[in-house]
Amino acid sequence: MSQPNEKTGHELNGNGSRWTGFSTTAVHGGEDRQKAHDALTDAIVCASTFSFENTQSVIDFIEQDQQRGEYGRYGNPSDMVVERKLAAIEGAEDGILFSSGMAALVTLLMAKLSAGDEIVFFDQCYHRSREFCAKYLARYGVITKQVKTGDYAAMANAVTDKTKMLVSESPTNPHLSVIDLEKFVEIGRRFKVETLIDATLATPYNLRPIAAGVDYVLHSATKYLGGHNDLLAGVVLGCRAKLEDVRSLRGVLGGVNSPHNCYLLQRGLKTFELRMQRHNENGQRVAEFLAGHPAVAKVLYPGLPDHPDHQLAVRTMRGFGGLVTFFVKDPDWQAAARVVDGCRMARIGPSLGGVETLIEQPYVMSYFKYSPADRARFGIPDNMIRLACGVENAEDIIADLDQALRG
Ligand SMILES: *Cc1c(COP(=O)(O)O)cnc(C)c1O
Repeated sequence: MSQPNEKTGHELNGNGSRWTGFSTTAVHGGEDRQKAHDALTDAIVCASTFSFENTQSVIDFIEQDQQRGEYGRYGNPSDMVVERKLAAIEGAEDGILFSSGMAALVTLLMAKLSAGDEIVFFDQCYHRSREFCAKYLARYGVITKQVKTGDYAAMANAVTDKTKMLVSESPTNPHLSVIDLEKFVEIGRRFKVETLIDATLATPYNLRPIAAGVDYVLHSATKYLGGHNDLLAGVVLGCRAKLEDVRSLRGVLGGVNSPHNCYLLQRGLKTFELRMQRHNENGQRVAEFLAGHPAVAKVLYPGLPDHPDHQLAVRTMRGFGGLVTFFVKDPDWQAAARVVDGCRMARIGPSLGGVETLIEQPYVMSYFKYSPADRARFGIPDNMIRLACGVENAEDIIADLDQALRG
């Protein structure tokens, strides 16, 4: 499960030794043992261009498909080491790093879809992913069919001979529904349609979509993978042959990461398992606290026994992450706003997966300009609060929420 990838063709450890631990892979995976200037850490190579000794070396580079730097839009050494590390962590053959999760999604879909194609998308998802498909892909003649999350029969029914991809998040943002990847992959195989899972909320620590047979795994590395609320990045992982056209298109669209940014991500990944263990613990403890609170009407968290996907989550996930969605009893949007405003430790902001706890009201933060009908359709009631537990101590997150809920 946490074996470093055998197929990247990259020497994971200069001694040729292999390791099995998740954190060991996160610390050492993808890195050369001996680095530039004998430094322990990788150099940040601030070059937008890479030079050639003479004309013949340019020709050799082109004819022999050599792996070396050329121009920064096609990649840089810092981006390549992070790609290898992420592939090792995910257990994927290859990974392509982008300047954001959205750049990853847009580039992947544009590389794979043409006018006349269709995709089928489970309807609970990050609002910008939905917006890209419904508003922009539509202009290029690609049709997105949204079906109810978890309705596998509806997904299968929506497939036609034009369908090119099945897409879902797992768990979904912000409802935290968990997808049965076995059923999802089976539909893809039955109709010979590729599958994509945005596993941002799960991370490779909690969910292994590649092992379940999913073709492409996408993460907003801005969230848990970077983990410190200080960078934007995205990654698409899968088998190398299927990712070749995605990599080519990244070189054209230019959604590549800067060397500095890549270094921050590489550094953040070293503590990935430690952070995830705390996020999982905090998410569970805070969800249990909220579920027993008199001012709270309902909590959505896969680790709670009353969550509709609890059994599936326990069977298929290692932990359930730091995101907890809950509803205050008072249905008035201002009552939820008072809880958000009452927090003294948790900060108000979008995003999740970083060390700092963040809280927000999805109606205000992401859906303020949507009509009441659209908010009802996307399942965003006024009294919904999304809490992204950081890695602080659970007691302090709980005490902060408790005083905010008391008002
Ligand atoms: C944040 C997020 C994205 C977008 O990622 P960015 O790095 O912000 O571009 C995509 N999917 C999910 C599930 C997210 O939470």
